[in-house]
Amino acid sequence: MSRWLPSLQSRKTFRHGVHPPENKEFAKDSPIEVMEIPQEVRIPLLQHFGVACEPTVKRGAELEIGDVIGETQDALFSSRVHSSVKGKALKPTVTTLPNGRHVNVIPVACDPEQSLKGRDLFEEIFGGDWPKGGFEDLSPDEIVSAAAEAGLVGLGGAAFPTHVKLKGAPDRPVETLLLNGCECEPFLASDYRLMIEAPAPILTGALLAKRAVGASRVILCLEDNKLGAVPILERAASGTPVEIQTLETKYPQGSEKQLIQAVLGKEVPLRGLPMDVGVLVMNVNTAASLARAVLRNKPLTHRIVTVAGHGIVQPKNLLAPIGASYGDLIEACGGLTADAARVLAGGPMMGFSLPDLDIPITKGTGGVTVLAERDLRAMRETACLRCGRCVDVCPMNLAPTRIALASRAGDYGLAHEWNLTACMECGSCAYVCPARIPLVQLIRMGKVMSKKEAVRKAA
Ligand code: SF4
Ligand code: SF4
Repeated sequence: MSRWLPSLQSRKTFRHGVHPPENKEFAKDSPIEVMEIPQEVRIPLLQHFGVACEPTVKRGAELEIGDVIGETQDALFSSRVHSSVKGKALKPTVTTLPNGRHVNVIPVACDPEQSLKGRDLFEEIFGGDWPKGGFEDLSPDEIVSAAAEAGLVGLGGAAFPTHVKLKGAPDRPVETLLLNGCECEPFLASDYRLMIEAPAPILTGALLAKRAVGASRVILCLEDNKLGAVPILERAASGTPVEIQTLETKYPQGSEKQLIQAVLGKEVPLRGLPMDVGVLVMNVNTAASLARAVLRNKPLTHRIVTVAGHGIVQPKNLLAPIGASYGDLIEACGGLTADAARVLAGGPMMGFSLPDLDIPITKGTGGVTVLAERDLRAMRETACLRCGRCVDVCPMNLAPTRIALASRAGDYGLAHEWNLTACMECGSCAYVCPARIPLVQLIRMGKVMSKKEAVRKAA
């Protein structure tokens, strides 16, 4: 039986954090629209945490949606890649992803006659019957294998291979599965739309994940700015053990450690993992993809992407083929406004500025935010005021200014002493900084440069 106790539980939250303008109104009421197929997609062979895939198809190969085009035989931390369209494989090339990583890509010229498109594609992915039980014949290993074969990764942004997460560690059993529907980044509404429009596969995927990890409790968590989804989820969860938990809307509520702290009152150690406290966190979109992988043997080929902001003509939630370019998505939303000034892969808190729009989206792309001139006016940097606000809001209890200044000075040893790698790049410190110091960018740069320095020293 599902349970929802809004009056008693809706204000649960974590310590610290910030309240940026939510800006959900841009896209939260826009139903998911299946994007027109572009002329070409370029599918990266590394879209996840871990080792890059090797191509498994040759130039000129005729592909159908879902054909495997890249995989690794040995690497545990990797995830297969599939074609997201019907078409012909072109000569492999290289692209630079928004995080600055150079990766190999397989371009595919799209066949104008796709076997599935429009509403048929949406129905094929999310529609039909989704059972709420009867999984006793499925072993945990079968569920894990289906996730691996489907190339599933965490769709909340981290893109960690799902089969690795579900496999877990024998010495750290999972007691509680948290389904993450918080989507705390401003502007983004793709998880919300999925919860409204296709709750059934989310619930089925949650129950399959529960079986895979042996959890005794499943809680679907969402912020209290998404109450419209609660009765829908309630109906979908009826007759199942899945609980619905609303939380205070606060950033970064959707981060794993903060979610666990808010819902269960447990602290994940500074360099630890949720499994250290008996928890597994899975994004709602990942759960829906798991259901499709296990019960329909279908891989991850498309994802829902919110395109929003003052700089976009018609904000939308698009169901887009992986490998379509940011430019394709923007065009599908009517293009940029005259005062569009910056395009971000992701939301304004954790997103990366795009140097150009001819970059492919990946499995981890949940949003595209287009800022206008008026959004950037107040962003000029001045000297640190030593106000301490960045320290007050950091959900990881770090000293952001110390780490950022050490990174800027190139003193990476000092940055590590201040726990450089414990920063999850949530951007809360930069958001509150009255001096507009780009704290999170400096910390990101510190991480990259210190890795390079370590490699150089080891060579
Ligand atoms: S230091 Fe890192 S974890 Fe702390 S607020 Fe800044 S970006 Fe977030
Ligand atoms: S919030 Fe900005 S100005 Fe205040 S201490 Fe931190 S870095 Fe300095």
